[in-house]
Amino acid sequence: MQQSDTQPTGIINQPAPDLGVTQWINAAGEPIQGYGLDQMPGFYKVIFCYQDACPGCHITGFPALVKLVKAFQGSPLVSVAAVQTVFEDFEANSFDRLAANQLKYALPVPFGHDAGQGREGAGSVLMQRYRNGGTPWFIVIDPEGTVIYNHFSIDVEKLIAQLKRPAPGVPRQAPDANTLTWRGVMALTREGNPSPPRRLELDAAQWRERLTAEQFRVTRQKGTERAHSSAMCSLFEPGRYSCVCCGTELFDASSKFASKSGWPSFTQALAPGLVAYHDDSSHGMTRVETTCNVCDAHLGHVFSDGPDPSGLRYCMNAVALVKA
Ligand SMILES: [Zn+2]
Repeated sequence: MQQSDTQPTGIINQPAPDLGVTQWINAAGEPIQGYGLDQMPGFYKVIFCYQDACPGCHITGFPALVKLVKAFQGSPLVSVAAVQTVFEDFEANSFDRLAANQLKYALPVPFGHDAGQGREGAGSVLMQRYRNGGTPWFIVIDPEGTVIYNHFSIDVEKLIAQLKRPAPGVPRQAPDANTLTWRGVMALTREGNPSPPRRLELDAAQWRERLTAEQFRVTRQKGTERAHSSAMCSLFEPGRYSCVCCGTELFDASSKFASKSGWPSFTQALAPGLVAYHDDSSHGMTRVETTCNVCDAHLGHVFSDGPDPSGLRYCMNAVALVKA
């Protein structure tokens, strides 16, 4: 059920606020006090928000949750809590329905009840803090405490695979200092980029001499090549990818992945300081532009929806890169 509300939903990439849920039963169905994110033992935390009287919660939400809980039973990687986030039908969506649903779906996880101040207030506190759009609703919080998923539905098989895969970018131990996260990207756009290893500065006429018309349009005029226009998208041979303008090596082939976006995609740059990050609000979108930190060539954009949870997707123009 969708909440009749025009506010933007979700707080993706933001620090996860306290759940604000005061009524809980534990995994065995007994009432407990003072539960919340701090008490959840998992590396990743998944909060499933539902209402007992919401048909979609039972048709799609709970079945997905059951799969997720089964996949990580006994694992410290993920912990799950279900919260009845009530914003309508306050009589039917009552506290005593928690145990009934816990039993019905055989879910050995804590269940919370969050009706806020009830009908007189705005309903669920959690929903307001996380800006949920309704129920069912899935929230995934990464080990750093950042909300990395916040939406009505979830591709549970994909999420399970992502959380189980020991891939670069998944911080199972302390994150490598060289592994850039979305939070790190945000910090660089705010606070500025580190000094490059060297600089190459030419004027427009000099760049025109060196580059093809398409290379010039993309790299020096912030153009975008046509999607699926380059064979580089499906190239996965070992090697390095360099800036077409200055030859600086920017990416290693080991971080390249098949994104289906139509542009060559990477999870990480070769090293810090090679790629620079800038706020880009052009074309009515809020994005992060990436440039070569040596020569300021426009490369493409970086997004927070990489193949790994909390990982990055560098969406690059193939004409801005040369494969060595
Ligand atoms: Zn360059």
